[in-house]
Amino acid sequence: MNILVLGSGGREHAISWKISQSDRCDKLYIAPGNPGTASLGENVALGVNDFEGIANLVREKNIDIVVVGPEDPLVNGIHDYLVDDAKLDVKVIGPRKGGAQLEGSKDFSKQFMQRHNIPTAAYATFTKDQIEEGEKFLESMNAPYVLKADGLAAGKGVLILDNLDEAKAELRAMLADAKFGDASSRVVIEEFLSGIEFSVFALTDGKNYVILPEAKDYKRIGEGDTGLNTGGMGAISPVPFVDDAMMKKVVDQIVEPTINGLNSESLPYVGFVFFGLINVNGNPFVIEYNARMGDPETEVVMPRLKSDFVDLLEAAGNGTLDQQTIEFDERAATTVMVVSGGYPGSYPKGKSISGLENVENCTVFHAGTKMEGDQLVTSGGRVMAFTAYGTDKKEALERSYEGIKRVCFEGITFRSDIGFDL
Ligand code: ATP
Repeated sequence: MNILVLGSGGREHAISWKISQSDRCDKLYIAPGNPGTASLGENVALGVNDFEGIANLVREKNIDIVVVGPEDPLVNGIHDYLVDDAKLDVKVIGPRKGGAQLEGSKDFSKQFMQRHNIPTAAYATFTKDQIEEGEKFLESMNAPYVLKADGLAAGKGVLILDNLDEAKAELRAMLADAKFGDASSRVVIEEFLSGIEFSVFALTDGKNYVILPEAKDYKRIGEGDTGLNTGGMGAISPVPFVDDAMMKKVVDQIVEPTINGLNSESLPYVGFVFFGLINVNGNPFVIEYNARMGDPETEVVMPRLKSDFVDLLEAAGNGTLDQQTIEFDERAATTVMVVSGGYPGSYPKGKSISGLENVENCTVFHAGTKMEGDQLVTSGGRVMAFTAYGTDKKEALERSYEGIKRVCFEGITFRSDIGFDL
C-alpha cells in the first residue's frame, strides 16, 4: 500500500514513523515533510493546501491512503476535493469539510454539543450587530471571561480575561475591528471551567471507532504553566488521573454521543477526533474538538500504539473499524519540545543544530528544522520533540531530558517541568 502524509511538523514525523513500522506500507510519501520524515519516506515539495498538486501526486504515485495532519486543508475541504472533484479512488483520513466544522467553527461545535447533550461550558455566540447584547451577556457572567473567535486563528483566537471592561473592549475589537480577521466575525463567549485539561483521541470510520492512548500537553512557554500560550511544549501519556472510571465517563458522555451525532446529522467523518477535555471535579467537559491529531500529543500517542497503524487507517477508510482491536504499549511515553529562543514571540531561524548523533534512548521528532547543505538548522519556533519510553513517567522524562542535553543550537529553550505536576 502507498501512503501519503500531509504536513511538516512533529505530528507528521510521528505519524510517518509509526506508518513506516508496518510492513503493509510499500511506499511512504510526505508532503512537504521535514528532514526527519526524509529518513522514513520520500518528501515531496508540495504545500498542504495545494489540492491540485496533491491530486496529481496521488494519481502519479498510486497512493491508496492520504493521512491529513493539520486542520487547514481539512477545513478547506481537501477530502471533498480529492474524492468528489478529482474523482480519485483514494482513502482520505481526515473528515470532509462538513465534519471538519467541529474544529473550524466554535459556534458550530457548541451547537453540536448542545444538540447531543455533550457536557461543555455554557455559552452564547454574538455577531457584529450584537455587540451590546454581548456586553450584557458578559455582565451577567463571573470572571474570568472566556472569548473565542469562531473560526481558525492559529491557536491565538481564545482570550481569557479577568477584567470586565477589558473583556468588553476585546469583544469589540474582535467583532467591530476584526481582530482575528474573518475568524472573529462571530465570537463565542463561554463560562470559565476550572480543572485539569487532558486529551482523548478517537479514530473513526464514521460509525465505529477506536480510542487511542490519552495524553496531556503543556501549552504555556514558562515553567509552572506560566507565560504565553505556545503550540505545545511537551506531553505525557498515560495521564495519571485518567483511570477506567474517568475513561468510561468520557466514552459514554462524550465520544459515543459525538460519533453518533455526526452519523445522525449525516456528517460522514473518517479520521481522527481530538477531544480537548477538562476534568471538573471528576467529570469530563469538552473544551474543544479538533478534526486531527494534536501536536505534540501525537509524539507520545504514536509510540504508545502497539497495533499496526496501517491496518487501523485502512479499516477507517473502509468502514470496518469494528473488526479491529487496539493494543497499547504499557510503558509511559513523554515528549519534551525544544524551541527557538524568543518563541512564541519573534525568534531567529537558521541556527545550526549539533549533537543529534549522540542522543540515546530517545526518538527525536523534527518540527521546525531544515537542511542547509549538509547542515541541519532551525526553521521554526518549535524545533524538535524528544520522546522517550519509561516503565513510568519519571523514567521516561529522565530519558527525554537526557536526550536534550546532547543537542545544541543557539538559543535552545525548553521547559524542565513537563509532567511534574501530576
Ligand atoms: P488550540 O491551540 O488548542 O487549538 P484553540 O484556539 O482552538 O486552541 P481552545 O482549545 O478552545 O482554543 O482554547 C484554548 C485554551 O484556552 C484551552 O486549552 C484552555 O486552556 C483555555 N480554555 C478554553 N475554553 C475554556 C473554558 N471554557 N474554561 C477554561 N479554560 C478554557
